[in-house]
Formats: sequence, C-alpha cells, structure tokens
Amino acid sequence: VMKVEEIPEPEVQAGTVSVKIEAVGVNPVDTYIRSGLYGVLPLLPYTPGMDAAGTVAAVGDGVSHVAVGDRVFVAGTISGAYAEQCLCASNQVYPLADSVSSAQGAALGVPYGTAYRAIHHRARVRPNESVLIHGASGGVGIAAVQLLKAHGATVIATAGSDEGMALVQAQGADYVLNHHEPEHLSQAHAAAGGGGIDVILEMLANVNLGNDLPVLGKHGRVVVIGSRGEVTINPRDLMTRDAAILGMTLMNVEDEDRAEIYGAIASELAAGSLNPIVSKEYALQDAPQAHVDVMESSPNGKLVLIP
Ligand code: NAP
Repeated sequence: VMKVEEIPEPEVQAGTVSVKIEAVGVNPVDTYIRSGLYGVLPLLPYTPGMDAAGTVAAVGDGVSHVAVGDRVFVAGTISGAYAEQCLCASNQVYPLADSVSSAQGAALGVPYGTAYRAIHHRARVRPNESVLIHGASGGVGIAAVQLLKAHGATVIATAGSDEGMALVQAQGADYVLNHHEPEHLSQAHAAAGGGGIDVILEMLANVNLGNDLPVLGKHGRVVVIGSRGEVTINPRDLMTRDAAILGMTLMNVEDEDRAEIYGAIASELAAGSLNPIVSKEYALQDAPQAHVDVMESSPNGKLVLIP
C-alpha cells in the first residue's frame, strides 16, 4: 500500500545534501521492493524511490561540489525519492545542466547509471563493436542507445511496437527490429556483418538468453540487466565462441565507480550527447498507478512523478 503522508523534513548532517524535489523517476525495481520481491528490503513504513531531480535545499559540513539553489539530479537517496524533499549522501547528488528539464533529470539515476555500468564496466564495449540492445524502448534501453552512439558503437536495437521502434530509431540506433518477431535475432546477426554480435545488453533474459548465445560472435559478451524468471541455455554456445555471460546489479557499484559513472553522465548531458525521454508524468499521489503501468504497459520512455 502506498499513500501520501506528512512527515518532518529531513535534516542535513555532515556529508549529506537535502534536495527539494521537482520530479521523481519510477523504476521497475521500485515495484520489486514495494512488493517484497527484492534481495534487500527496507523496514516498513518507508518512502520508495531512488531517482529524482530538483534544487539543493541545504548542504551539510564537508559538501563542496554543490551549493544551496543548484539544480541537481539524484541517483540514490537516504530518505526515499517519492517525496517533496529527500536527504542524500553527497555522492548521490550531481549537477544538472540548465538545458535538461527536471523530469528528464529524474530519468537519469538508475537507467543511465545501469546502461553506463553495463557498457563500460561489464562488457567493456570498444568503439566500432556491434551491440544488440534487446529491449531498447524503456528507460535503460534508451540510455544505452544514446551512450553507445556517443561511444562510436554500431547499435542494433529492439522494441515491441511500431511506436517503440520509431522512438529507438530517433535516438540514433543503426538497425531497429521488433523483439516479438521470431526472425529478429537472425536479422540482428546479419546486421552485425555476419561474424556475429559482439555484445548483447539483455533486458529480459528469462525469455531471450538461450536464443541470444547462438548469434554472438567470437569473444562475444551478454550483459544480463533484466530477468524475471528462469531460462535454459546451451553452454556449448558459449564454449565454441569463447563467449561470456556477465550479470550486473547497479546496487553493487563501489563508490569509486559510482563517481566515474555519474561524473561522465553529467558531462555528456552538459555536452548535449544525452537526451532523456519522458513518456508520462503523474501526480505523486498517483504513484500506485505508475507502479501498475511500469510493469504492465510498454513505457516507451520514463514514467515520472511530480510532487
Ligand atoms: P522499462 O522502462 O519498463 O522497459 C522495459 C523494456 O523491456 C522495454 O524496452 C520493453 O520493450 C522491453 N521488453 C519487453 N518485452 C521484451 C522482450 N521479449 N525482449 C526484449 N525486451 C523486451 O524498464 P527499464 O527500466 O528499462 O529496465 C529494464 C529491465 O532491467 C527491467 O527488468 C529492470 O528491472 C531491469 N533493471 C536492472 C538493473 C540492474 O541493476 N541489473 C537496473 C535497472 C533495470 P517494449 O515495451 O517495446 O516491448
């Protein structure tokens, strides 16, 4: 049960920042935590949410990279993001370029952080490699298309509807396919030039992983970003290619890597190479409907709450 309640404003301590929130990003993981289906669960009651954008309300001792009144995006919080104000550790708050709206800023933390982590730290994609983004029309997929094009990779992207395919195309994908069509993986293999796909970013591994492996090239890598169940694979598909399946969870990121990830995202945003796509805005009290929609409908961009 999610409902809006009045609670005292969070107070800053040393090394923390409080942010007046203008927009909140809704992520699938918020629903896993709310429904108790996640490895690490908060004590009840709690305020959900990891991503937001707004202005700095107060800074604690030792915080110098942002000041009161600065526009910022939030990637993780101490007190929860589905709120008018949140308390964050200083390394959860990053400057937001003036060219980026608060709703777009709320679309950054989990989606762009996950895409960056998968591309640069797990798969270690090199410019000119081919990358299949299997599920490119959602928050993580759109971020991955933009980050990979800025990096110089060849992007083969999938979506499940004409609208999603058009959206992915507009982000700069080189080839766009429909993941509900049975031949899409053989088409992706052909698009990669015949030698196989270098990297697959997989958003729904329980459906796709077994079929992903045969279209990989030699030394290919699959990064499992999303999975909602079990799947059967043939290990020989990995052996014959010296290929690898790499898992990842953004919450495992160490502080040093976190600084690199969000520093790079803030710079690329300011330079104009990233453009978060917001598909729908909801009032904060409509968070329950946003949780239904993020799991049941094609998002084609980010769902955002406005407090
Ligand atoms: P989202 O915005 O809800 O997007 C879901 C994506 O999955 C859409 O592009 C959707 O495409 C696609 N999809 C649906 N059916 C598919 C299929 N059969 N094959 C391939 N793709 C399919 O979610 P998100 O925020 O991008 O997150 C994607 C997944 O990664 C979620 O499961 C999420 O929980 C997970 N995730 C994991 C981490 C981590 O740290 N490992 C971090 C963030 C997210 P259509 O709607 O066009 O069909």
